[in-house]
Amino acid sequence: MRSGFPIIYEQPVFRPPGEAQSLLLQVTTGCSHNRCTFCAMYRGKSFRVRPLAEIQRELTLCADYFARRGETVRKIFLCDGDALAAPSAHLLGVLDRVHTCFPALRRIGIYATAANVRAKTDTELALLGKRKLTLAYIGLESGSDAVLRAVNKGNNAAEVVEAAQRLSQHGWQTSLIVMLGLNGRAFASAHREETAMVISQTPARFLSFLTTVAVPNTPYFRAIEAGDIQPLTSRELLEEMHYLIAHIDCPKPVIFRANHVSNQFPLEGVLSKDRAKLLSTLEQWIRSCPANLYPDANPFLL
Ligand code: SF4
Repeated sequence: MRSGFPIIYEQPVFRPPGEAQSLLLQVTTGCSHNRCTFCAMYRGKSFRVRPLAEIQRELTLCADYFARRGETVRKIFLCDGDALAAPSAHLLGVLDRVHTCFPALRRIGIYATAANVRAKTDTELALLGKRKLTLAYIGLESGSDAVLRAVNKGNNAAEVVEAAQRLSQHGWQTSLIVMLGLNGRAFASAHREETAMVISQTPARFLSFLTTVAVPNTPYFRAIEAGDIQPLTSRELLEEMHYLIAHIDCPKPVIFRANHVSNQFPLEGVLSKDRAKLLSTLEQWIRSCPANLYPDANPFLL
């Protein structure tokens, strides 16, 4: 943390890799769903919407802090896990203060669920979009409804497609997140085939792959310990990534990244322009990957 920085965050705080340069603003704490079996990000937090006056005060202090340092804030990311769950009037109050404090701002991003988007009217999405809240990171996780049910995601794949379509109609971009290897070997073929199909139907501008890692003290971890889920090896995960890259067929270019800390093999490019190059890299990795290697467990992931 920089010295004198005026915000004391309610930890832990998570942000997408692409928001590393953004000012993080906690509009909500926790996740309004908080029941995905694999996710430990907000298990220790209760969901709440932070008071508007508190957030506005932080923004004023941040404006002063960055002005004194001669720094310009160009991007803001709204935390925590699904800040779009906050009422629209609340978000509009935050965004209005954001623009007063940071007139050079280019874009605001947010984590969102399909349910958050569904709960907003078209007018609300348009009003938020006009205030530069135009990038929603949505966890599709899997295109297979069987996988989504098994991990208690709280929505089906069609609802994610519908959310991205509505966001796109109102000038937003969607960054779709997929979890490689989710729910293990028994679901692997449904996961990869239906995920490739659903991504192809979703108007996403960005796509990122994360590797599913069992986090201790989660239902997912216990299911692996009990033998109910057989995790994929690193080579199987590479093969899954290869299948997805080979079969995703999006009408518009999609900026693809698999550079999350959970990924043993970082990869990025533009789909479908870079498809051949990405596949060739994956094929080399698959050939050289030991058959019995598993991704490292890291309790800080996800
Ligand atoms: S994966 Fe997303 S929606 Fe699910 S519990 Fe974690 S933060 Fe909430």
